[in-house]
Amino acid sequence: MSGLDHIDGILQEALTAIEGARSPQELEAVDVKYLGRRGAITAVLKGIKDLPPESRKVVGAAANQARLRLEEALISARQKFEGVKQDSPFDYTLPGIKQRQGSLHPITRVIDRICQSFYGMGFSIARGPDIENDYYNFEALNFPPDHPARDMQDTFYLDGGLLLRTHTTPVQIRVLESNKPPVKVITPGKTYRNEAISTRSYCVFHQVDGFLVDEGITMGDLKGVLVAFCRDFYGEGLKLRFRPSFFPFTEPSAEVDISCLLCKGKGCQLCKYEGWLEILGCGMIDPNVMRNVGYDSEKYTGYAFGMGVERIALLKYRITDIRLLYENDIRFIRQFH
Ligand SMILES: [Zn+2]
Repeated sequence: MSGLDHIDGILQEALTAIEGARSPQELEAVDVKYLGRRGAITAVLKGIKDLPPESRKVVGAAANQARLRLEEALISARQKFEGVKQDSPFDYTLPGIKQRQGSLHPITRVIDRICQSFYGMGFSIARGPDIENDYYNFEALNFPPDHPARDMQDTFYLDGGLLLRTHTTPVQIRVLESNKPPVKVITPGKTYRNEAISTRSYCVFHQVDGFLVDEGITMGDLKGVLVAFCRDFYGEGLKLRFRPSFFPFTEPSAEVDISCLLCKGKGCQLCKYEGWLEILGCGMIDPNVMRNVGYDSEKYTGYAFGMGVERIALLKYRITDIRLLYENDIRFIRQFH
């Protein structure tokens, strides 16, 4: 019976060691100590042949049973360590998160392209504040206080005589005030009008204005620069049409149409069957504006033009609802690469 007690003693000691093992390496050491070539259980099994024949069967069975118990205990302990590994916060088998590449907003793309075209013709770029006062937004641009054109532009007024600029033309005054001719500048930026939001109009939009002031500037120079811009921006073979119009800060004033991009002038839904698309306003800078910035209006003349960026983007990308440009729906914006 002492042989059986001995085996049981080894077994209990080994099971305690397995339970206390803190790592797979410690389990391996227990395995070697009890079941290895020189292990305690192995020694008992090897010694069976030296036992009296009547004990061999009983001791042999007990030793084998102890070996099986230990093997099972080692297997489940090893699984426990593998389980810990799987529960770790890092699962190296998961697919990675795809990094999405951003793209420029269609409005930014159109502004960049317009600026690039005028930059190539020697214009520099100037920017001004979005919050203006009445003088820069209206008065200096020849809108007298009771001028009906003020009603054409529904203005967001702020406290203290300030307002959100209704066009980027005030930048023209700021640039002319602080420079001497020749001045050749374009002014891209945001503008604001208190308009009902619809598929065709929004309360915020973008404009690019441009102007040139020097000695001897004529309407012919204006036409030349606009024809060059339209052919560069919209493509060769385009026809332009100048129609008389009215703006307080230019005299004479004109609106410019281009032949329809879709039907080339035959008439379609885009051009409302007229064959023409209105794209910008322009004119010769009014002598009153020249005087307001301290220029000699007898000596200097200049032209100015302005275009709405949203209208150009709608035409260029065939977008039918202006609101899409401001909703920032990533599924919409991602289309413009
Ligand atoms: Zn058309």
